[in-house]
Amino acid sequence: MSKKPGAGEKTFAFQDDRLLVCFTPDPRLPRLGEIPAAEPAGELQERFSKARSSDCVWARLPENAPLPEGMSLVPLREAWGLLGEEAFLEAGRARQILDWIQETNFCGRCGKRMRDHATEGARTCQSCGLTVYPTVSPAIIVAVEREGKLLLARSPHFPKGRYSVLAGFVEPGETLEQAVVREVLEEVSVRVKEIRYFGSQPWPFPHSLMVGFSAAWESGEICVDGKEIEDAGWFAPEEFPEIPPPLSISRRLIDDFTRRNRNEN
Ligand SMILES: [Zn+2]
Repeated sequence: MSKKPGAGEKTFAFQDDRLLVCFTPDPRLPRLGEIPAAEPAGELQERFSKARSSDCVWARLPENAPLPEGMSLVPLREAWGLLGEEAFLEAGRARQILDWIQETNFCGRCGKRMRDHATEGARTCQSCGLTVYPTVSPAIIVAVEREGKLLLARSPHFPKGRYSVLAGFVEPGETLEQAVVREVLEEVSVRVKEIRYFGSQPWPFPHSLMVGFSAAWESGEICVDGKEIEDAGWFAPEEFPEIPPPLSISRRLIDDFTRRNRNEN
């Protein structure tokens, strides 16, 4: 049932981790026919796209391939501002799968060639039969509240002056709630309770799924670990330092807290 992609289809073409965008006259995705050097992901793409009814092409642009007139490569993060949220999310999905295809050319167990699985969105080793699926790395992100104040912390990797809510990767064998408790305790020495699901966001840097929660302070005073977190504190909305831009779930968590705790006087 596979159909060949047509020249007029919108194309998410990546060279390394950068997306090809056409800038004439306004930023838009190029059509497949406009990028002669594009190498579409082929049938494997359909195993992931069908359920989302997206009619676009995912493609690689070979290293050193000349860029068509009026087109430039942009970092994936910039796709949001240039092309909108929907295109950013699809671009993130495309890049994760394209990267995964490249990273699974050879079997991690026996070193032989891997091929696309016959029916699933997976790749299989021709020699030992190992089957691998795309990597998704869940991470928790949590807004901890205490008497109308929000726990905001600063990682040394953040832009200068930026604070945000706490986040960390889920470890094998852990529930999401256990990850929330462990991360907050490890990073700032505070115990939390009343953990509630907030929402989630795919975050393709490189293949995270951010799972957001709110939680309440239970005990302990802030003491930062000095490695992942260099400073942290409790902030009322009117005391907030610089916070993340609107595209992230961290900002949605902070905005939700602000809505519920704004001082109306
Ligand atoms: Zn193998």
